[in-house]
Amino acid sequence: MFRDSDAVESGRGAGKGEPSGKVRVRFAPSPTGYLHIGGVRTALFNWLFARRHQGTFILRIEDTDQERFTDEAIQAILDGMKWVGLDWDEGPFRQTGRMDLYREHAMKLFEQGKAYWCVCTPDELETRRKEALAKGLTQKYDGRCRAKGITKPTGEAALRFKAPQEGETVIDDLVKGRVVFDNAVLDDLIILRSNGYPTYNFSVVVDDALMGITHVIRGDDHLTNTPRQVPMFQALGFTVPKFGHLPMILGSDKARLSKRHGATSVLAYRDMGYLPEAVVNYLVRLGWSHGDQELFTRQELIEKFDFKHVQSSSAVFNQEKMLWVNEQYIKQGEPGHVARLLIPFLEQAGLKQEVSAVSPDWLAKLVVMVRERTKTLVEMVTWVTPYFGQDVAMDEASAKKFLTPAMAPALAKVVARFEAEPAFHKEQWETIFKQVVEEQGMKMGQLAQPVRVALTGRTASPGLFEVMELLGRERTLIRLKKGIERAKASA
Ligand code: GLU
Repeated sequence: MFRDSDAVESGRGAGKGEPSGKVRVRFAPSPTGYLHIGGVRTALFNWLFARRHQGTFILRIEDTDQERFTDEAIQAILDGMKWVGLDWDEGPFRQTGRMDLYREHAMKLFEQGKAYWCVCTPDELETRRKEALAKGLTQKYDGRCRAKGITKPTGEAALRFKAPQEGETVIDDLVKGRVVFDNAVLDDLIILRSNGYPTYNFSVVVDDALMGITHVIRGDDHLTNTPRQVPMFQALGFTVPKFGHLPMILGSDKARLSKRHGATSVLAYRDMGYLPEAVVNYLVRLGWSHGDQELFTRQELIEKFDFKHVQSSSAVFNQEKMLWVNEQYIKQGEPGHVARLLIPFLEQAGLKQEVSAVSPDWLAKLVVMVRERTKTLVEMVTWVTPYFGQDVAMDEASAKKFLTPAMAPALAKVVARFEAEPAFHKEQWETIFKQVVEEQGMKMGQLAQPVRVALTGRTASPGLFEVMELLGRERTLIRLKKGIERAKASA
């Protein structure tokens, strides 16, 4: 546990954010239907901080707004978290399962005279809000029920927190530095609604306190909530955690990142063929840096992540850069791993049976063969499909152009020479092929293209002999023979 004074001692100076005790952090998403990549970045910074300090990472679903949230929305968060590999040590907790705790603590504040019943109706509040607005006054609750001393409301009533009216609330933010708020602007916030549900600012305090959260790391859209929450921690007699408010992620037009700028759901990136580690790597760099290093293994991130290098201003999301990072992960990733991630895409492309017939090793080789040409797993699918199954789907235009009757004799010669070899040897078959080219008085490309089309159905492919190696002797011969038939038949 941290002493209260720690919060004040750790400014933007040396040792900033270096915890002196056991770290406990949380990610507290509201289930809005999908996991936003901005949320993933918040979760990631929490997770990295926890892992770096052998702390505890807690997942807490803030679902007290009953009307909006569904089980599917919660599942989307869990699926997203699992996909990017952000495992939690405690939870997932659901706030709706903790309602008694919020009520109990709200009533504690009431009994201690730190909260009061408010019987102002929503209509009355709205009228007064409009009046204040018209007069150019601050639109906070005017505190009219504060002095009423209602002990047992008979009708609808909400419980309000008696916010401090004087002095300042100072936050030594891990990212923003020292932020000072004037308490005079603080509202007497409702903590328990008339329907018995707690409000966000209250339930978050009760949970952060009871869960022993040492560092509240969240988006800076919550920065103005912090001076409202700190007095509640104090009123309840809890230790105030440290806070770190992360800069927002913006779109290219500098507006807050939204669907307008492209996909924002993390699982949408999965479906577009991004590797989870690439998404993580891209997101961590949105607001944090380590010199000019761009690519990090997860272990490196755990070792290097710190709040000193989290920038305090907002970061701009750049889809092209994210694609570049993905490309690097595809090219440099362990082939077997990339192959495993590719499998669901292949199955979706109708190759379930074909995929089940090949070995993981073969699939990894296939990945190595095509990965230089692909930026996403979705692109990879189009490059690898020709290598499954006995036959290959021909691109008609390519077949017409290259598999011509004039080519048939040379192709037949290639097949005859290959067939004379009992086993496939890449270098040897290449030599044989070159001999035939020479004997036929052709140029390499003249014969290579028909062979390529016969083997892959297309005019672009990786190296011809790598393709043969991957297809194997038997399938190479079958496809070449089919190519000859096709050449002969074409008029
Ligand atoms: N549930 C809040 C949100 O999704 C986060 C609250 C917090 O981190 O304190 O924005």
